[in-house]
Amino acid sequence: MPIKVVVIPVTPFQQNCALVWCEKTKRGAFVDPGGEPERLVAVAAQHDVTIEKILLTHGHLDHAGAAAALAERYGVAIEGPHRDEDWLLASIPDQASRYGMNDARACTPNRWLTDGETVTVGEATFDVVHCPGHTPGHVVFVQNEARFAFVGDVIFRGSIGRTDFPRGNFDDLVASIRTKLFPRGDDIRFLPGHGELSTFGWERKTNPFVSDLAVGD
Ligand SMILES: [Zn+2]
Ligand SMILES: [Zn+2]
Repeated sequence: MPIKVVVIPVTPFQQNCALVWCEKTKRGAFVDPGGEPERLVAVAAQHDVTIEKILLTHGHLDHAGAAAALAERYGVAIEGPHRDEDWLLASIPDQASRYGMNDARACTPNRWLTDGETVTVGEATFDVVHCPGHTPGHVVFVQNEARFAFVGDVIFRGSIGRTDFPRGNFDDLVASIRTKLFPRGDDIRFLPGHGELSTFGWERKTNPFVSDLAVGD
């Protein structure tokens, strides 16, 4: 099922919030709405998309700070991340006070996700891939037919997620990328939480942390 994606960078962290929708049904979701909910609502209205859920990759403030407000506004569910992220979602107000972003709220997903499950947006299906390392409960959403993935802060164009936060783990992160994401195919394009789009194939060739050369494969 064809999908459309519009990227709306939010918060001082320029986090790539995405509005994604199924072209056939015009039903859509926000992926990682970290802040600026009114702006996100306006973009959805402008594209005439009916919001049916909120999808979260992980519990950092810049990805989840506006999830509660939007779920309430539309009366929709929050799906994801993995249950190992519960402590982080609960700490959003603490994370926010450190940056003076006081409108961010804690949230509890209506559905926790595990590796191998799927989520739907309209008639499009996304595979859920649990990718610990940046945070323990981080998940990635892969739309197989469109060859497209939302990867949050797991991997970026030319870099990977930070692992110096509480419960981050560099080896876990590299393993998540190498054994769970790259096997999905070199041709898969991904939107990271920050910065430009890339493909798994390009990163497998050139990424200084996880390329074939860097890990000696
Ligand atoms: Zn993060
Ligand atoms: Zn981030």
